Amino acid sequence: MVPRKDSPEDAAAFDVAVVGAGPGGYVAAIRCAQLGLRTVCIDKWTDPRGRPALGGTCLNVGCIPSKALLDSSHHFHCLSHLFPEHGISVDGARIDVAAMQSRKNRVVASLGRGVAGLLRKNGVELVTGAARLTEDGAVEIAGSPPRSLRPRHVVLAAGSVPAAIEAAPTDGARIVDSEGALAFDEPPRRLAVIGAGVIGLELGSVWNRLGSEVVLLEALDDFLPGADRDVAKHSLRIFRRQGLDVRLGQRVTGCEPGGEAVTVHFEDSHGAHRIEADRLVVAVGRRPATEALGLEEAGIDRDERGFIRVDGFGRTSREGVWAIGDCAPGPMLAHRASEDGISVAERIAGGKSRIDHHTVPWVIYTHPEIAWVGRTESELDDAGIAWRSGRFPFAASGRALAAGDAEGFVKVVSDETTDEILGVHVLGAQASELIAEAVTAMEFQASAEDLARTVHAHPTLAEGLHEAALAVDERAIHL
Ligand code: FAD
Ligand code: NAD
Repeated sequence: MVPRKDSPEDAAAFDVAVVGAGPGGYVAAIRCAQLGLRTVCIDKWTDPRGRPALGGTCLNVGCIPSKALLDSSHHFHCLSHLFPEHGISVDGARIDVAAMQSRKNRVVASLGRGVAGLLRKNGVELVTGAARLTEDGAVEIAGSPPRSLRPRHVVLAAGSVPAAIEAAPTDGARIVDSEGALAFDEPPRRLAVIGAGVIGLELGSVWNRLGSEVVLLEALDDFLPGADRDVAKHSLRIFRRQGLDVRLGQRVTGCEPGGEAVTVHFEDSHGAHRIEADRLVVAVGRRPATEALGLEEAGIDRDERGFIRVDGFGRTSREGVWAIGDCAPGPMLAHRASEDGISVAERIAGGKSRIDHHTVPWVIYTHPEIAWVGRTESELDDAGIAWRSGRFPFAASGRALAAGDAEGFVKVVSDETTDEILGVHVLGAQASELIAEAVTAMEFQASAEDLARTVHAHPTLAEGLHEAALAVDERAIHL
């Protein structure tokens, strides 16, 4: 079918067309509509029954389904590992993976309906189909029916897809990416994962808690290079004790999928090795989904890794075209994509918002969780910035001990001269929630002294942050 060109109702009818309905795109579309802009949001994702599936990677195959499985598997793990300490015992506990997966799917479906409802409520038109830009600035949609739009502005929020490696091509059966690893119908007896990054650790934890023997093959010699060195060292020890066999400095050279198993070949400084696994997950990062957007024809620049080049306001090299979230350089995180979306929507409406990624928090939802915001001590050393830091272990926290969940610590790093907080690093239960206070403090350019003089409820895990701030000045009370 030939796309309809410049049909009366489509021509110049929209102020903004947003390409992608992930956490970047749907949030940008809602904010545009709130600001009075006539907005259309286009997404090609459909469910197995052909119905629109909104929410992008995050909702369909990312943040939400992974957290649903992490929570289910954590509850199961607690039955045998935490509850006995509380005097609770359960005989014959077993996991029904089909029920766990159905619950996960219901959570995803319900939130997807929620996104559709929010778009509707705000008057955003939703179009299902793959969008592509043309040289003359139109947005062609290969939907049913095909459409051609000429909006005043286009926001590209096309997201990302799993990166592939030649040594382990996915086959959707034995060798899968993160999407496949979220959908196993039973715990593989032996699970191998290439990449000990965020996905490897989160999904490795899920299946390990349900009984899989998990081996993670990581190319780098350093574990979690972006994290605080103490957090990385301690968490690696904890994960290994939990049963995650993390092997660093391993170069995967090839895989042989067979009928029952897959053989993974890899090398390290000691020579060549191989392991057999029932399933292999490839979790070696993600790449921007920018190939099919017509960027070259439209004169929009990409960098050498395929990310759309943007300035500090999300503007691309073409006037009126903006890019946000995973398809543009920056942290590949849902909350960052959403904040980019809000900022760009406000700019389009004439506001003065600016994209700032300095206080974007990172969270790894293992148990204990890892969370951080700002810079690490090593990054500050590299930048020649003098710092001091304070650390407080949860083993000295009344709330953590009462809960029986006292592994890890909080570290606050501040500028040696001004005491402004430059980074906060947490390894511990509910680190994902604790980091929010640190983000707020940094947004307000708080000093460690400010945090130290803030009253924290007792007994809470947040007191750990308070004590770490006190420890910066060597005056922690409970150390
Ligand atoms: P996406 O969510 O990828 O959405 C892009 C959308 O654009 C898709 O719906 C796609 O169909 C659509 N699209 C692409 N091209 C076109 C086109 N040409 N026409 C029409 N539509 C198009 N991040 C977190 O912050 N916290 C987490 O806990 C977390 N967990 C994750 C777990 C896993 C297993 C994975 C894989 C990722 C996780 N992430 C997490 C990362 C997070 O999912 C992404 O950073 C986030 O989804 C990026 O949002 P986005 O809107 O930029 O892109
Ligand atoms: P990642 O960058 O976190 O980890 C990938 C790991 O694979 C790295 O440690 C890398 O060194 C390693 N690697 C790369 N090539 C390799 C090879 N050939 N052999 C062995 N190891 C190799 O990426 P990911 O875990 O795939 O996740 C992708 C992105 O999705 C994350 O960076 C993050 O932005 C996002 N995500 C976020 C969350 C969260 O916020 N909790 C959860 C999942 C994913």
